Parts: sequence; structure tokens; C-alpha cells
Amino acid sequence: MTQQPTDELIDDFGRRVRYVRISVTDRCDFRCVYCMSEEMTFLPRAQVLTLEELAMVARAFTELGVEKVRLTGGEPLVRRDIDRLVADIGSLPGLNDFAMTTNGASLPRYARQLRDAGLTRLNISIDSLDPERFRRLTRTGDLSRVIEGIRAAKAAGFERIKLNAVILKGRNDDEVVDLVDFARREGLDISFIEEMPLGDVSDHGREETFCSSDEVQALVEARHALTPTTETTLGPSRYFRMSDSDTRVGFISPHSHNFCSTCNRVRVTAEGRLLLCLGNEHSVDLRAVLRRHPGDIEALKAAIVAAMPLKPERHHFTTDGDVQVVRFMNMTGG
Ligand code: SAM
Ligand code: SF4
Repeated sequence: MTQQPTDELIDDFGRRVRYVRISVTDRCDFRCVYCMSEEMTFLPRAQVLTLEELAMVARAFTELGVEKVRLTGGEPLVRRDIDRLVADIGSLPGLNDFAMTTNGASLPRYARQLRDAGLTRLNISIDSLDPERFRRLTRTGDLSRVIEGIRAAKAAGFERIKLNAVILKGRNDDEVVDLVDFARREGLDISFIEEMPLGDVSDHGREETFCSSDEVQALVEARHALTPTTETTLGPSRYFRMSDSDTRVGFISPHSHNFCSTCNRVRVTAEGRLLLCLGNEHSVDLRAVLRRHPGDIEALKAAIVAAMPLKPERHHFTTDGDVQVVRFMNMTGG
């Protein structure tokens, strides 16, 4: 087993963990067809980490050399007092990138508070610019709220806001260029995400709708020439630039361009399970440590360091419809 320095997280394949994504809730006000089934049962509250526990997890990671924290969910903005948590995490020394992934619907209410509390970056998910289609894809979402949320985030001073779009064949692949043009008009970046087989969603078979990043890229390139860049936000996106705009176009391709070899990320679920890989079940129960040793940051850090050898070399997603990972995305925090 690799000897671990006490202040850094290095796995058995020499990858240093610099980025943690923390799911603050499994609940959501949307029911996106690729993420959830229509009828979802959510966790009882006692099983979800408290705000204090979540803040302590973030602190432990930053003390172990993690520079980037992203809050996600479920929908992070449906968690009560989320702005308090953001303020606690925003003041941690050593953090140089503090982000959130959100469906945007609550940003008209929260954008300014979040910015003031120290959040620096936002990813906002938007899969269609057509209100009816948007409603079908999210089952409950109101497109106008999300667009209002994007504008509120810009007005609050968030820079380099990034849109995330999951492209499904036959559902929204005809909107790829429109989404890029929207991002260009609004001065935003955009990443296209390949659908991942997480959870058995009732809406569709994954193999019917899978649309590879290469297909999406070809659709963009039919309108806009793309130049590859080496820019990174520590995340899994591969970025491209266009000559006539500041907008960056990213592709997140867990299937077609395996990004495991440079993976510097781990995840913590809303229940406090530390997941070492999105596509594998290896995990460690940090909630048990937090509740066995309340307030003891060293015990928590020791548990995180001890988990590193569990990080597998790679994931093994397939597109043939096999559901290999039984968790839904809202459990793991995309
Ligand atoms: N509710 C927030 C949102 O939608 O942005 C944050 C959580 S959501 C799970 C994070 C990201 O994961 C979203 O951009 C969503 O589109 C994406 N996502 C959800 N299920 C997915 C799946 N099965 N495959 C690929 N991306 C997925
Ligand atoms: Fe909710 Fe985000 Fe999942 Fe959509 S992708 S159901 S907004 S958690």
C-alpha cells in the first residue's frame, strides 16, 4: 500500500486528489428523465449530513490539499440554509475554486446571496431552449425561471458561468447549435455531457438515446469551427475555442474519451459516503466517522486518507443498456 503524506491525498496510481464534489441533498424540484424516475423516494433527513457535518467534510478536504470544492445534489438550492453552508465553506483557507452545479430555477432568489457568501463559480444545467420540450425533459421545470436564473447569476457578478447540457438522441440533439449560440449571446461557456448509465430510469433505454461527444462536436462544427485548447477547470471537460467569441465549448465524455487516467476527483454523497469513482461502488462511510467522533476533524481526515487506496484505476461504463451502477445521479452528485 502506498505511504500517504499527511497533508496530501494521493491514490495508488499516483493521482493527487485536488477536487471534491459534495452532494448536499438528494432532493430536487425537477425530475430530469436521464437522472431520476418519475416517482422517487428520497432519504430520510436523519440519514443526510447536517450543514455542520457538510462544512466539516469540506474543511477536512481542504486541509488535505484539496483546492476545489463543488456543491451539487440533487438540487443544492432546495437545501434549507444553503447560503449558510456556502459562507462556511467560502471562508476556508486553501480553497481557490468554489463552485456549484444547479438547475438554476432558484437562482433568481439566491444568486446574489451565494455570490456574497463566497461562491465563485456556477454551472447551470439547461438541455433545451424550447419551453415545452424543457418541461418534458425535466418533467417539472419551467424554462423561463432558469433563464431568469442565468441572468440573475450574471447580474450578481458570477464570472465564466458554464451551462451544462446532456444531449439525448431524438430528444434534443437538434438543439446543439442553438444552445451554443445561446451561450455565445449570453457570454457563457457550455459543456455537453454524454449520458451516463446511473440508475435504472423509467423513461427510456439508455442505448436508444446515447449521443456521443464526437457526434455532438460534429454538429457544433457544422456551424462553428472549434480549436482545441489545453485549458482545464480541474474537471473532466475537454475545451474548445471559437475564433469569434469568448465562449468555450466543452465535452464531458465518460464513455468515448476515458478520462480516468487524469482523474483528480472524489465525491461525497448526501449521506456522507465518500465515493472514489463515479462508475464504481467503492466507498467509505464518512457519516459513521463524523457521528462516532463528533467535531473531531483529525479522525475525519484520517478516514479520508485511509480511503485513497480504494480509488480504482478506471470505470467501465458501457452503452449497451447494462445498468452497471445502481445509484441515481442525484445520489452521487453529478
Ligand atoms: N440539480 C443540479 C443540476 O441539474 O445541475 C445538480 C445535480 S445534477 C445530478 C448534475 C449534472 O449531472 C447536471 O448537469 C445533469 O444534467 C447531469 N446528469 C444527471 N444525470 C445524468 C446522467 N445520467 N448522465 C449524465 N449526466 C447526468
Ligand atoms: Fe434534479 Fe439536477 Fe437530476 Fe435534473 S439533473 S433531476 S435538476 S438533480
